[in-house]
Amino acid sequence: MSDCTPVFLPDEAATLALGASWARVLTAPLTIYLQGDLGAGKTTFVRGLLRGLGYRGTVKSPTYAIVETYDSDGLCLNHFDLYRFSSPEEWEDAGLDDTAAASLNLIEWPDKGRGFAPPADLTLTLSRDRDGRRAAACAHSAAGQQSLHAWIQNLPAAGF
Ligand code: ADP
Ligand code: MG
Repeated sequence: MSDCTPVFLPDEAATLALGASWARVLTAPLTIYLQGDLGAGKTTFVRGLLRGLGYRGTVKSPTYAIVETYDSDGLCLNHFDLYRFSSPEEWEDAGLDDTAAASLNLIEWPDKGRGFAPPADLTLTLSRDRDGRRAAACAHSAAGQQSLHAWIQNLPAAGF
């Protein structure tokens, strides 16, 4: 995977492994937008990332809670899902700026918080491809670029 060049994920295990491969190199603060339809594998990716960070508990989809926060190894990770937002102002109404500050933020359905959610350092786009999925990452900031480079270099070791 290079900038916007997709990798093929034949099964769920591959999506989990892609998340875990990023866990080994990432640094916070950073915001990553997770783009893709319902069922594209966004939450699965976050689950793999958290497993890679050593988190062993349940990783729930935050569709109803809007955000699930995890502390693992001194890293604060927020997993947002804005699917149920009826307007982007709900980000502000819920005080989510305070939650997002100085953390690693993964945001599903970021367009629903447009103008209020923090800007993306990275975008990961997941889409259906035959029986599997396709993933492509793009960087939008210097911090995102640095993280993406480290991630790409780590992919062969992760079996991609
Ligand atoms: P989203 O959060 O994008 O709505 P989920 O992560 O909840 O999607 O995943 C939906 C389904 O897709 C799950 O049943 C998961 O096991 C499956 N899945 C994830 N990655 C893959 C893949 N690479 N190939 C096939 N199925 C996958
Ligand atoms: Mg989801």
